[in-house]
Amino acid sequence: MLARCLCGAIELSLEPPTDFLSICHCRSCRLSHGAPCVAWTSVPRERFGFVRGEDRVRWYRSSEWIRWGFCDTCGSRLLYLADQEGHPESPKTDRVYVAAACIDGPFDRELDAHVSYEERLPWFNPADGVAKYRGKGVELISS
Ligand SMILES: [Zn+2]
Ligand SMILES: [Zn+2]
Repeated sequence: MLARCLCGAIELSLEPPTDFLSICHCRSCRLSHGAPCVAWTSVPRERFGFVRGEDRVRWYRSSEWIRWGFCDTCGSRLLYLADQEGHPESPKTDRVYVAAACIDGPFDRELDAHVSYEERLPWFNPADGVAKYRGKGVELISS
């Protein structure tokens, strides 16, 4: 599967199977993407690669654990990496997390869950029947 930024300078490849497909409502995702929520997937680092544009990625480090990668030209937010263990929500250092909406074409799974649903915007209440969790799967809130 291929993911790309808006201008096309960066293209990523992910070899299925993906680990999950979830929509995150946390404040960090919302502010980072300027969107009410962000869909994420991940694959092991060895099944991830840059088709082109690795040198065009700019990194924003939001904490000692996490850096977010975006296109230096169009600003598309494409991925994040966990550089070390210890983050409260335990993102895995051996995975690459990719913004699933940047993947054009078929995906290898259906939507699994909404996460950090307690942080959602008050005007955004998707009624899609998909499981909605507090945190990254701490507690089922609704479906
Ligand atoms: Zn771009
Ligand atoms: Zn989030």
